[in-house]
Amino acid sequence: MSDIEPVKLLLQNSKRIVLTTHTRPDGDAMGSSLALLHFLKEQGHDVSLITPTNYAVFLHFLPGDHEVIIYENHQKRCNKLVAAAEVLFVLDYNSPKRAKPMDRAIQKSTATKILIDHHLDPEEGFGDYAFWNVKASSTCELVYEFISQISSPEVINKKMATCLYTGICTDTGRFKFNINPKLYEIVADLVRKGINIDKIHTQVFDTFSEDKLRFLGFCLTERMMVFPEYNTAFIYVKERDFRRFNYQEGDKEGLVNYPLSLAGFRFAALITENDEMVKLSFRSKGNFSVNEFARKHFNGGGHKNASGGLSHLSLDDTIDKFIDLLPQYEKELTN
Ligand code: 5GP
Ligand code: MN
Repeated sequence: MSDIEPVKLLLQNSKRIVLTTHTRPDGDAMGSSLALLHFLKEQGHDVSLITPTNYAVFLHFLPGDHEVIIYENHQKRCNKLVAAAEVLFVLDYNSPKRAKPMDRAIQKSTATKILIDHHLDPEEGFGDYAFWNVKASSTCELVYEFISQISSPEVINKKMATCLYTGICTDTGRFKFNINPKLYEIVADLVRKGINIDKIHTQVFDTFSEDKLRFLGFCLTERMMVFPEYNTAFIYVKERDFRRFNYQEGDKEGLVNYPLSLAGFRFAALITENDEMVKLSFRSKGNFSVNEFARKHFNGGGHKNASGGLSHLSLDDTIDKFIDLLPQYEKELTN
């Protein structure tokens, strides 16, 4: 954790600031960057928020969404903004390669980089200042603390609170993981700001399209493989399945959690076929570290109980590789 004082000093007068977050940003990535956007603008800075790619439709209700610039759609404009930035925030990721296709622009930037994140194993030397805590539930929790220290919790308004609550709620799986008493105190404060919890939950969790709901049903009946001997199950999705159900960004959000709801199961994966590679998402319960699993076998990482990675094998070969790995983890998965 860096000392807050030099950052306070740095932000004392108006700066050109660019906020960045990871590829296919989730609720925590969007919530933390939009909350910070509102805060820094109110402090008189010139602020832009750039996401590497588009993100799920259910996040577009967040206040300030219309200000987000998507790198892959506006590369020239974004490169200019990044090159001109005096301060660049790195939110909810800890290595430039998690921000593809924006990674080169970020690496080239000479701005002072401020990292706020809760993922394991940050890249050495990335960020001049790092507010990094793997015990934090979410980057939104860290942004709440950051704003409170730079200024005071009083300046957090309803717009910022809506963004922060959304990120905390989604990254904790609706208050299931990484909970601590202090987090509930933060949430209590956010509720006091007048946020509409009913509306947020409806926007985030109850805005499925018919295609998305039928896609979920299809995956559970046709695409789930279950290995009770290893307390493990996974869902795989073929490229043509995405087309069949008219896939929209965000439609596979939450899918990986279903196999983990089988009684006694500890390890779940979602294996999806994309254009040129296969993407894997991992979830676990208890001590089995999917961060290590993803690092060791699938060139990825994340958290102990939620991680992801990539494979350049075909979908079928990736599935075989995954199944072949299970026996070496039998003890951890069954003891
Ligand atoms: P998700 O399964 O929701 O895409 O990702 C779960 C967690 O794993 C997130 O915290 C994310 O940062 C991390 N993660 C997902 N994919 C990758 C990857 O390819 N590389 C790394 N290092 N982390 C990943
Ligand atoms: Mn996060």
